[in-house]
Amino acid sequence: MVRGSELLLRDLDLPTGSLPDGLKGDAAIYIGRWQGQPCRLLPVSRKHPVPAGLTTESLQSAEPCLSLELLSLGALGAQILHWENNSRCCSRCGGQMARIPGESGKKCGNCSALHFPHIHPCVIVLVRRGEEVLLVRKAEWADGRYGLVAGFLDQGECLEEAVTRELLEETGIRVQNIRYVGSQSWPFPSQLMAGFVADYAGGEIVVEEKELEDARWFAVTDLPTLPPKRSIARYLIDTFAVAM
Ligand SMILES: [Zn+2]
Repeated sequence: MVRGSELLLRDLDLPTGSLPDGLKGDAAIYIGRWQGQPCRLLPVSRKHPVPAGLTTESLQSAEPCLSLELLSLGALGAQILHWENNSRCCSRCGGQMARIPGESGKKCGNCSALHFPHIHPCVIVLVRRGEEVLLVRKAEWADGRYGLVAGFLDQGECLEEAVTRELLEETGIRVQNIRYVGSQSWPFPSQLMAGFVADYAGGEIVVEEKELEDARWFAVTDLPTLPPKRSIARYLIDTFAVAM
């Protein structure tokens, strides 16, 4: 049961058996098997009170109480619901869409167009300059927390071009030796993060104030509060900053 960005739990695990009083199962979606049991995803309105006997866990908590497996399953549920809510009508003709059996895609009942979940590619990059790394912060992040430059891929770009453009736009910094490291599904609401590391090539920091509150070089021996361990941002920092 997913309620906004929260997972509903019983004893820190998925509820099993019949639904709690007051909840209807009409909107439940079968999403596969979990620990050998059939697993259904049920959206619960944010306005609906938490049913008796259940607790909530934020899927974006910095210090989650759940295993990464359960947290990932909950986040996948939220991503599936995001697609459900954004794929009711065909974007070509406005017709009603119906699920394609056994797939995550949908087909328009009017013009027969096929639609599949929209997953938005983003780049995220750690820039190194000697014994320093470039970190940035957004105003809405927790006090004192810094992370990495990131942004959406634009039309016509390869991922490396997006890295170069985002860094220039947001910080005024130019880079070289851009290397792909790995990727991570980021279901808030539906991104794929492609992680890179790059070396400083020139420029002075000019903060793009529409996007960022701050950008600065940090010594790798004196880093601020960082993103949660499960994020690719933190993986890039832990792997390529601390190990320098
Ligand atoms: Zn259509």
